[in-house]
Amino acid sequence: MSNQIIGTDVDRAVEILRNGGLVGLPTETVYGLAADASQKQAVTKIFAVKGRPNNHPLIVHVESVDAARQWSSLWPQSAEILGTTFWPGPLSVVVKKAPDVLVEVTGGHQSVAIRVPGHVIALELLSRFSGGLAAPSANRFGKVSPTTAQHVFDDLGTSVDYILDGGPCAVGLESTIVDCCGDIPVVLRPGGITTEDIQKIVALGDDDLGMSRAPGMLPAHYAPQCQVTLFQELSEAMRASETFDAATLRVIDASTNPLVFASSMYSQLRQCDIDGVKHLLVVLPDANGIGLAIRDRLTKAAHDPKNQSH
Ligand code: AMP
Ligand code: MG
Repeated sequence: MSNQIIGTDVDRAVEILRNGGLVGLPTETVYGLAADASQKQAVTKIFAVKGRPNNHPLIVHVESVDAARQWSSLWPQSAEILGTTFWPGPLSVVVKKAPDVLVEVTGGHQSVAIRVPGHVIALELLSRFSGGLAAPSANRFGKVSPTTAQHVFDDLGTSVDYILDGGPCAVGLESTIVDCCGDIPVVLRPGGITTEDIQKIVALGDDDLGMSRAPGMLPAHYAPQCQVTLFQELSEAMRASETFDAATLRVIDASTNPLVFASSMYSQLRQCDIDGVKHLLVVLPDANGIGLAIRDRLTKAAHDPKNQSH
């Protein structure tokens, strides 16, 4: 079954998207669940398939900075600088939307998030499709993001019309989101492009950059079945590990090589569930560079939904 739905036929993907279908989209961050951003019914399907609340905005993927400008009624200098510096790449800008951008895409907001993905197959698809693709991560709402075509199939099965296989995602966690609507850009979600790199080219507002706070982001997210507990030091994790049954325990040290860890983080979370792990103890990386984004995702993965306040 999975063989028929997973493949590398870009023309087939384009045709499906033009006909209002859904395509699993390989990017450098995570796999997206893509639909033609200009077709209301196609965009609506994304929410149904993911089980995502329809007020959670989607990111529009486009092929170039020129294409990105078309989606905004006011393209700020900060978006221009960020786009020309980091695209194609794991950074999304939030800008004032152009009048014809569907509110189904923006979750009812007057702003829209846009990015140019840094993946050769995604760019090939966008160039042949010549339009924007709305694409959140291709997993069920609140669960672990997919970083391979097989993960997409495992999560969504045949409710996706076709899954383009672009291999494992190189970055492995979601894009950095920068809100460029105000006078001073603000990081709404840490991600593949680090805050330090952004600050080299634009001044950022608000120094509270550690946790994502874009609309539609909840305290619990990216969560595997197993219980995730976080530690600052390996010694603490090892001490705590003695209190659990070794047969269903796993300890992961994310602190030694955060970049490499990021690329396999979601695969490792998925593997814990496949292996029947009940307790996962993770040693966090320092809160800088890609470590900020890892800490953000793992903090949400570790959040107990029963304590969720909104
Ligand atoms: P993802 O779930 O990785 O596709 O990322 C989508 C996230 O981007 C949403 O949950 C929002 O947090 C953020 N986002 C998308 N559009 C907007 C927008 N117009 N304003 C602010 N944040 C946005
Ligand atoms: Mg997601």
